[in-house]
Amino acid sequence: MNFNLEKVEYVDIHSHLSFKDYRENLSQILKRMKENKVATICIGTDLEESLEAKKIAEENENVLYSIALHPHDNLKEFDFAFENQKKYFSDLKEISKSEKCVTVGECGLDYFYISKEFEGGELVFQKERQKEIFKRHIELALDLDLPLMLHIRPSETDGNREDAYLDAIEILKEYRVRGNFHFFTSTKKVMEKILKNLPDFSFSIPAVCTFTDEYDEMIKAIPLDKIHIETDSPFVLPKNKRKEAKQNEPSFVVEVFEKVCEIRKIEDKNKFKNVLKENFEKMFLK
Ligand SMILES: [Zn+2]
Repeated sequence: MNFNLEKVEYVDIHSHLSFKDYRENLSQILKRMKENKVATICIGTDLEESLEAKKIAEENENVLYSIALHPHDNLKEFDFAFENQKKYFSDLKEISKSEKCVTVGECGLDYFYISKEFEGGELVFQKERQKEIFKRHIELALDLDLPLMLHIRPSETDGNREDAYLDAIEILKEYRVRGNFHFFTSTKKVMEKILKNLPDFSFSIPAVCTFTDEYDEMIKAIPLDKIHIETDSPFVLPKNKRKEAKQNEPSFVVEVFEKVCEIRKIEDKNKFKNVLKENFEKMFLK
């Protein structure tokens, strides 16, 4: 496979280089990734984006990719008819045919917007639709023997920061599947519940930790062999990049790395860098 972990220092495990936000400057971004020895997984969010992600991964040594239908962004217009679901997921499977496809997702549950838009029975119905598509992704991951890249977003950012996670845990418990909770910004309590119920899942920390200390306790408590870092580019710029850049990019994962080192009081950064690489390899390359 044209991917060499030995040439890489940092892996941003979740970015969206295929988004049109990058159409004009993708080549510079890829160049900066090389200069900073950063690799990334370009995350698919529907058929088109998954295909584009595949294309970028095949053309660039330090890019891998995923396939999925995002639980919120692209589910609204989705035709839930059985035949359509079958066709959609067999098309995704087709796009997965490359060594560089290393995960299925981002998939999962996103209650943030639907809880504002719907209530009562309609809200329950919307959640059921998300759960149905989530299960199709889990089945696909098992079929392809790939880990899941989970997008779990609760109803609230401060109040109910747990609901979607608790539902996801209940669903995942029924399968022997592995994966990662992308953009993990829930509570320490939820993290502990995941560790207890889902031994084959890891957590990935976004740049949010660079501008709030709200998650520090949780970040400190993640077992060393279950932690990853990410940018979720083009979203969520790290604090120190706000003056120089308008959008996030995989190279900025270095700032997330530095901040996580600070929070966890890591003295030997090189050692921690290697731990992160090992965690990445264990989850996504095996
Ligand atoms: Zn994402």
